[in-house]
Order: sequence, then structure tokens, then C-alpha cells
Amino acid sequence: MNRLLDGYRRFREETWPAQRDRFMALAEQGQRPETMLIACSDSRVDPQMIFSAAPGELFVVRNVANLVPPYMPDANLHGTSAAVEFGVRVLQVRQLVVMGHALCGGIRALLEGVPPAAGDFVAGWIGIAERARAVALRCDAPDAQQQAGEHEAVRISLANLMTFPWVAEAVAEGRLTLRGAHFGVATGRLMLLDPATDSFVPA
Ligand SMILES: [Zn+2]
Repeated sequence: MNRLLDGYRRFREETWPAQRDRFMALAEQGQRPETMLIACSDSRVDPQMIFSAAPGELFVVRNVANLVPPYMPDANLHGTSAAVEFGVRVLQVRQLVVMGHALCGGIRALLEGVPPAAGDFVAGWIGIAERARAVALRCDAPDAQQQAGEHEAVRISLANLMTFPWVAEAVAEGRLTLRGAHFGVATGRLMLLDPATDSFVPA
């Protein structure tokens, strides 16, 4: 906790005075982010840092392997779907980015098996990307399989987003754009999914 509180004190002494006006305006006027980010919970992949974003700019949901389940309005507790609903229907974000990343433990679990200690929820959750497993295993080298799985998981999340009727409607009416991305932890490089070629190209 000391490490956290040291960081908090630096925030209060350095960041807060410089950003106070922005925070006060956001408090008074509410948030109006134009971009929603769906990223992995991985501690190395911080969307706000990667995009040099200020408070109020990014509406973010992070989960294991940056997955979006298909549209299933039932009695189960859908945290990611709730965030998508809030971002798209209430905040009316203009773009929604699904950002995968290199060395993703969730995708590794999909390819190599879920750690025994993560059987209650992780196994079912990463099953959303089950189709990515078959795609990844077409590659020979383990590194290539891992990256192919990460890329395919982004495509699956984007396809699942389109099963949400109000996402599909917003996209069809030009009010919302969906984008795929992939961040290289060791390189600091962002790749974007090119809709024309369905491949990832440097941003
Ligand atoms: Zn990950």
C-alpha cells in the first residue's frame, strides 16, 4: 500500500494542480468522451498512457484478453456488455476500439490451457475466443500462434460487437466506427486492423 500512497501523493502534488481546471470542468459538465476502448486487464497495457490521453477522453473497459461476448440480454451479469451499452447508448461515443496486445496471458491460456487456479471464471470467459484457437494453430511457431490468436480475438470481439443491435444500428448510420488494434509490449508499437485487407498494419 505504501507504494500506492507514494504515487497518490505525487499525483496530488504534481498532477492534480496542473489538471485541476480540467477535472473541475469534467465534474461540472460531465464526461463526453469520443472514444471507447476495450483493452486487456494486463498491467503492461494502459490505454491512457499509450494514447497520451487526458482525463475525460477515453471511456475504458478492461477485461481478460479484451473480449466482448455476443449480445445476450439475459439475467446474467454482463460487465463488459453493460460498459458497451453505457458507452454507445448513453455517452454516444463516436469510435470504439478493441485493443489486443502481445504476450496476452488470456490468449496463452486459450492456446495452452487455463491455469488450474483460474477455472471458475477464466475458462468460460476466454471461451468467447475459442474460434481463435483453430486459426492460431494453423501457424507453426509458438510466437506466431500467440500473435495470430491475439489478432483473431480482436476480430471476434469486433464481430460480437456487431451482434448488439444498437451497435450495428449506430455503425450503419455512421454515428459509430469500430476499430481493431494490437499493442506490442516489448516494442511500444501500435498496429491497426485495416478493414480493407483484414490485416494488422503499423499505425
Ligand atoms: Zn492480455
